[in-house]
Amino acid sequence: MPIRGLNSIAVWQSELLPAQVVHGFTCRTGGVSQGAYASLSMSPRRGDDPAAVRKNEEILCREAGLELERLTSTCQEHTDVVEVITPDRVGVGIRRPWERPVDGIITRLPGVPLLAYAADCVPILFYAADIAAVAAVHSGWRGTAARIAEKAAKKLFEMGAEPHNVTAVIGPCIGRCCYEVDENVALRFPESCRTPKEGGKYMLDLPGANRLMLEALGLRVDASAPCTMCNNHMFFSHRGQGGKSGTLGAFIQLGRKNEGRIS
Ligand SMILES: [Zn+2]
Repeated sequence: MPIRGLNSIAVWQSELLPAQVVHGFTCRTGGVSQGAYASLSMSPRRGDDPAAVRKNEEILCREAGLELERLTSTCQEHTDVVEVITPDRVGVGIRRPWERPVDGIITRLPGVPLLAYAADCVPILFYAADIAAVAAVHSGWRGTAARIAEKAAKKLFEMGAEPHNVTAVIGPCIGRCCYEVDENVALRFPESCRTPKEGGKYMLDLPGANRLMLEALGLRVDASAPCTMCNNHMFFSHRGQGGKSGTLGAFIQLGRKNEGRIS
C-alpha cells in the first residue's frame, strides 16, 4: 500500500501521477482534532471544531508543500456540480463560502491546491497532462449515480484535454467488501458492481462504478486504493465509526510550493 510519510502526516498517493503534481489522500494521523475526528480531519462541515480544522489545513499545507493562502475547496452536498477555479475564485470554500453546493473543482492555475473531502464516499483526483489541469471530485452513491466523475472528465475534454492524456486516481473509500446498501440504491448501478445478499440487500462497488465510467471515456484509472472501513485505523470511515467521523482530504496542486504563480 503506497502510504508515504510527509514529515508529520501520512498520505496515500498514486504512483501514476508525476512528481510535479503534488497530491495525496490524507490518513488520520498528525492533526489536532479530538474524539471521532482525531486527528487530521479536513472538512469544516462535519461537526468538528472549526479552529481545529483551520489548524489541520495549516498542517496539511505545511507538510505536503501546498500553498495555504490559495487553498480552494468544494462545498459538498452530493450534487453533480463541477466548477472551474479561475483567478477570481482562488480561496473559495476556505476563505469565503461558495454561493451554492459544488462537489467537483478543476483548475489550470499552478500553485493553487484543490481540496475535496470523503469518509467512505469516493474521492477522485484528475490530472490532464496535455493541458496542465487538475481536478478534485467527491462522488458518493448519489454523485456516482449522477455521474459527477464523468462530468468532470468531460469538462477537461471541453478545456482541450485528450482522454488518453488524463489520469484519474480513485482514492481510499468504502469497498464492495463493506458497503451494504438497499436494493433501490444498488439497482442504479451496473450489474457487475453489485452483489445480491439475503433480505434484499446488496454489496455495492462504488469505486468500481466510477472506474467503469472513466475507463469507458478512455482515461487511465488508478483504482488500487484501499477500503476505508477495512482500514479504519488508518482512514476515517463514516460507517466504521458509527456515522460520526472526520474526513480525509483529497488534495492536488500543479507545481511544488513557490514554483507556481497565478497569472
Ligand atoms: Zn472493506
